[in-house]
Amino acid sequence: MKAAAFDYVRAGSIEQAIDLLGRHGDDARVLAGGQTLMATLNMRLSEPALVIDITGLAALRGIELRGEVLRIGALSTHTQIEQSPLVARHAPLLTEAAPHIAHRAIRNSGTWGGSIAYADPAAEWPACLLALGGTVVVQGPAGERRIAGDDFFTGLYATALRPDEIVVAGEIPVATPDAWSGMSQLARRHGDYAIVGLAASARRQGGVLSSVRLAFMGVATTPWRARRTEAVLDGQVPDEGTLARAVDCLRGEIDPLPDLTNTPETKRHLAGVLLQRLLASARP
Ligand SMILES: Cc1cc2nc3c(=O)[nH]c(=O)nc-3n(C[C@H](O)[C@H](O)[C@H](O)COP(=O)(O)OP(=O)(O)OC[C@H]3O[C@@H](n4cnc5c(N)ncnc54)[C@H](O)[C@@H]3O)c2cc1C
Repeated sequence: MKAAAFDYVRAGSIEQAIDLLGRHGDDARVLAGGQTLMATLNMRLSEPALVIDITGLAALRGIELRGEVLRIGALSTHTQIEQSPLVARHAPLLTEAAPHIAHRAIRNSGTWGGSIAYADPAAEWPACLLALGGTVVVQGPAGERRIAGDDFFTGLYATALRPDEIVVAGEIPVATPDAWSGMSQLARRHGDYAIVGLAASARRQGGVLSSVRLAFMGVATTPWRARRTEAVLDGQVPDEGTLARAVDCLRGEIDPLPDLTNTPETKRHLAGVLLQRLLASARP
């Protein structure tokens, strides 16, 4: 199939993109890496009257340290994040997660901001943002505002982004010396979206975990935090007994949605396996 006809504007500034979004509302779509949008256009799952190409906006590029946060511009590609020494040093969970996103050709074009704005519940970046306590920086007619990752993902492919706003960056608190993080996922083939995935972070002192954050992919309409299970792990050494209690808690807490090939029961089981496996690696 081919896309339905649409008008195309290559935005010359963030302000112009926002102005066009404000005037065209739901009839307009922003184009970033195009790795999702082009497919949905060609399959006519999306038929906007106007496509606003933001790829020329230099202000949306770049990865930099700003005080206590790592600011990742919306147009940073998955590959740029994967290969960034700054990311490896200050947010190593992202370096670990990036190779799980699709394949190299897609990672070379797909963007951080596009993945966050699209809000696929099985995608890596939204889950990592939650696991790391990150913030989404958006810009609209009134300027920038910051939305905690915990509040950003509101439903299936739905976010707190207003129709006349774009994602300009994501901010990740820099890893402290006692930080631990990890990613584990199960996919049918490398590069496929995860059937179930887990991005996790914690602080670790003398083997004891605190500030545990567990963000699951592929189980709910949004990336999902297992808050009761986090509480079971907080203040504990992740030894076998603690992990058994955490897995028990998780399997009671989680209520996974099925997908085309996996039942909720399968996903509940797999989520427990991932939790056990990943948190065992948090032992000193
Ligand atoms: C075969 C295949 C496999 C894939 N596998 C995975 C995978 O395993 N894991 C994974 O996480 N992803 C996967 N993806 C998706 C990929 O990561 C995309 O790059 C990503 O979802 C969207 O980023 P993009 O820059 O390509 O956005 P686009 O396709 O350009 O846009 C996607 C949506 O986000 C909106 N948008 C884009 N940027 C912004 C912005 N700055 N502000 C507001 N709205 C914006 C667009 O309007 C559109 O609605 C896969 C894609 C393909 C084609």
